[in-house]
Formats: sequence, structure tokens, C-alpha cells
Amino acid sequence: MGSIEGKVALVTGAGSGIGEAVARRLDAEGARVAALDVDSTGAELTAGLLTRGMAVVADVADSAQVDEAVRTVVETYGRLDILVNNAGIRGGQEADDAFGRLAARLAEAESGAPETMLDATVNISDDAWHRMLGVHLDGTFYGTRAALRHMERGGVIVNVSSICGLTGCAHIPHYSAAKAGIEGFTRAVARDVAPRGIRVNCVAPGYIDTPLGDVMAPVVRRDLERQISLGRFGLPAEIASAVAFLVGPDGTYVTGQTLSPNGGFVMS
Ligand code: NAD
Repeated sequence: MGSIEGKVALVTGAGSGIGEAVARRLDAEGARVAALDVDSTGAELTAGLLTRGMAVVADVADSAQVDEAVRTVVETYGRLDILVNNAGIRGGQEADDAFGRLAARLAEAESGAPETMLDATVNISDDAWHRMLGVHLDGTFYGTRAALRHMERGGVIVNVSSICGLTGCAHIPHYSAAKAGIEGFTRAVARDVAPRGIRVNCVAPGYIDTPLGDVMAPVVRRDLERQISLGRFGLPAEIASAVAFLVGPDGTYVTGQTLSPNGGFVMS
């Protein structure tokens, strides 16, 4: 008997990485899980791994699609108890270029004085900025608003932010801004809906092994690993554990908080 037996959960970005791990964990704990992704293949593949799951295809940056997706889940399962706003994107070409410059600089540092300029902010286009905020921050708002309309018997929301939202990450200021926005949004909504018996928290992962980080140069990864107290990147399942704690019976007195599984990269 799972700890969230019979609950209905919607996980966004469930077609890959952390979202897939969260969907599988909540399924294993007894929830009926709707696996939402903009990538229909990913959503279907994850849903196929679940004992009681369904796939939902939607772009979280589009409020009409999010409203429709939440309606579909409620019509199918009759309720919605848990929302995990997890969908996310990488920093785009400008960030990839900046990380490329970082890799060059680290290589230079190993062989002498570094010469490569690192700053990424001046190269970020309006489109890249708005897309980043659209998927992460707008998407979290759209999902939360739609879910709250259906959480008549209480509920739990977990927003996946990032250590970049806590400390800021060089090379991806747009990503860091979006994630910091999610942190503030989470605490405001947690206060707003607590009287209705709804809890809202953040999980702020450190560096986790998922397709999101696949483009990272080995020299950059080695540099990061040296800065992580536990000496390694995390696993998607280790983020799913944090989500499971927050949505399950052990987390009932926790709201407006950030749980950051980051291997001791950031400590507070
Ligand atoms: P991932 O690329 O493996 O998975 C992200 C999923 O989100 C993909 O399936 C993708 O199709 C989906 N997605 C992207 N845009 C979408 C949209 N507009 N609508 C619906 N779905 C969309 O990445 P991941 O590493 O599992 O990232 C999951 C979350 O964790 C993200 O919010 C990310 O910012 C956050 N995070 C990741 C790390 C890390 O190191 N991997 C660290 C901190 C935070």
C-alpha cells in the first residue's frame, strides 16, 4: 500500500529525466499519474512505464493548452491532488556558446593564463529570454492556476526550481532569473492557499544526470564535480525522492519551503 494511494498526480515535463523519475516514483507510491510533455513520444513512453498512468501532450508555456490538459486529467480521473511543475529547457545557443567559452578557458587555465571572455548576458536575445521565462515561470504559473481551480479537497504542488534560482549561475542569467521567480512565486502561493489545505513547495536540484546536461563538455563537468561536496552529479531518482517526501504523509507540515538535493554544492 503506497503512501499516496488513490491520489491523482499531474507531472509536467514527464517525458524525460527528472519528470520521468518523479512520475515513476509517484506511480510506485500508488498515485494515478498523468505524464504531461510537449514531446508526445516522451509522454507516451513514460505513461507506458506506469501501472496507472496516462499521457497528456501540452506546451506549458501556452495557458490554453495547460487549462485543457488539466481539464482532461480531471475528467479522466475525477480529481486532481498533486501537481509537479517540472517542465524545463536548456539555456539555448547563447548559453551553449558561453559554456563552450568556459570549457576553452578551463583548458587554457590548465596550460597557462586564461584569455577567453566568459560573459553570456550581452549575447542573450529577447526571444531566448522570453522563451526561458515562458516555459519555466509562465508554465509554473499556468499549471498552478489551472490546478488550484480543481483542488477542492486540498492538494500539494511542487515546483522544480534549481540551485541557479538560489545562488545565480554564470552563463545562464535567464534560467537563473526564471528559477528565482519560481522560488518567490512558490512562497506567495503557499501563503495564499494554505487556508484551503493546499501546500506549495520547491525542489531545487543541483547538477543532475539528465539529457538537459548532455551538452556539457567533460572539462566543465569535471570542474563542477570538484565543487560538489559529495563529488558527483545526482540521479533523477534522488530528486524524485525529495518530491515524494513533500507530497506524501511525511511532508504534511511543510509549506513555502525549498528542499535542495544538490550534493552539498550549495549549503544554507
Ligand atoms: P530533461 O530535458 O531531461 O526533461 C525536460 C522535459 O521537459 C522534456 O521531456 C521536455 O520535452 C519537457 N518540456 C520542455 N519544454 C516543455 C514545454 N514547453 N511544455 C511541456 N514540456 C516541456 O530535463 P531535466 O534535467 O529532467 O529537467 C527537469 C527540470 O529540472 C527542469 O525544470 C530543469 O530546469 C530542472 N533542473 C534540472 C537540473 C539538472 O541538472 N538536470 C538541475 C536543476 C534543475
